[in-house]
Amino acid sequence: MIKFLQDLIQIESLSPRDEGCFDIIEDRLNKLNFNCERINYLNVENLYATFGDKGKLFCFLGHTDVVPTGPVEKWTYPPFSGHIEGDLLYGRGTADMKGSIAAFLESLDEFFATNPNLNFRIAILLTSNEEGDAEDGFIDKIVDDMIERDERIDLCLVGEPTSYEKIGDSVRIGRRGSLGGSLKILGKQGHIAYPENVNNPIFSASDVIVELKNTIWDNGNAIFQPTSFQISNIHSGTGAKNVVPGELDMFFNFRYSTESTQETLVNEFESILKKLNIEYEINWRLSGLPYLTTEDNLKDVVVKSIENIAGYTPDLNAKGGTSDGRFVAKMGTEIVELGPLNDTIHQIDEHIKISELWTLKNIYTDILKGLNSKLS
Ligand SMILES: [Zn+2]
Repeated sequence: MIKFLQDLIQIESLSPRDEGCFDIIEDRLNKLNFNCERINYLNVENLYATFGDKGKLFCFLGHTDVVPTGPVEKWTYPPFSGHIEGDLLYGRGTADMKGSIAAFLESLDEFFATNPNLNFRIAILLTSNEEGDAEDGFIDKIVDDMIERDERIDLCLVGEPTSYEKIGDSVRIGRRGSLGGSLKILGKQGHIAYPENVNNPIFSASDVIVELKNTIWDNGNAIFQPTSFQISNIHSGTGAKNVVPGELDMFFNFRYSTESTQETLVNEFESILKKLNIEYEINWRLSGLPYLTTEDNLKDVVVKSIENIAGYTPDLNAKGGTSDGRFVAKMGTEIVELGPLNDTIHQIDEHIKISELWTLKNIYTDILKGLNSKLS
């Protein structure tokens, strides 16, 4: 498993390129008699492999692409070397998320070695464009095609790095939605010495920002944190110091709980602008609907496996950014996300603990066994 992970790390699969990760993954799946299919959309590769012919469809969902390394000279070991130092394996993608792919493949070997009488179907769906722009939504497209073919993933395990201090201490059973927007506040440009002749959009923005910052959008619920609003960029000015600009641009984003919807947030946001008599133009962009898994089949098996192997009960939550789980959710799939520690993801010196990856592998194997008895 560790050697295989090093092989994956040594492939520089910067998003959205797979660069051959699928080839070595497919080799292993072929040995287990999986039926492997490459699905290409807009030159981005995806691997869909299935095994079995009866029962519910369980799918492991993941991605082989990684984010850029940042300045290579800042890394203690080269980011694509897969260098091992004691219990630590370094490299871009070790935690997000080639580690969980290696662990899941190993758990499949282990599971099939017990010659199970398979009571469910197993699939692996991997994309090489998870870290890129979600607008391209490849998993989204694949899911739409599956729906068209009357195919449905019943249970989905996403291998994203959900753990905080110990493997499996945190499991996601939902994700917040993501709603972004760009706002243009319109004023009136003029000479800075003639305030009576201008309408300064920067002053208007200050009122808007205070109001937005103080608004409680919702209080969240047992699983979801309250909806959060953030501004990522604000700019204005004509370049001249003696000119009041005529407009101001602001980019913002909501990460929202299931207590809000796109509609309630848009309405409340725009009602603040109207209340303050702001003249504006706005563009909204929904990049992910929130989802929450309420059924217990997969959730129960995952919790029990973590208890069996690690000896503690995971926290079930909906923290973190969006994941490709959001696309699968529209099939009405039960989704649980469980993977490595997230403390170094996307950072310089990303790494995982080898001992913890073995624990993750053991948990995955126990999940497969648990599903086989639960779904019998
Ligand atoms: Zn990831």
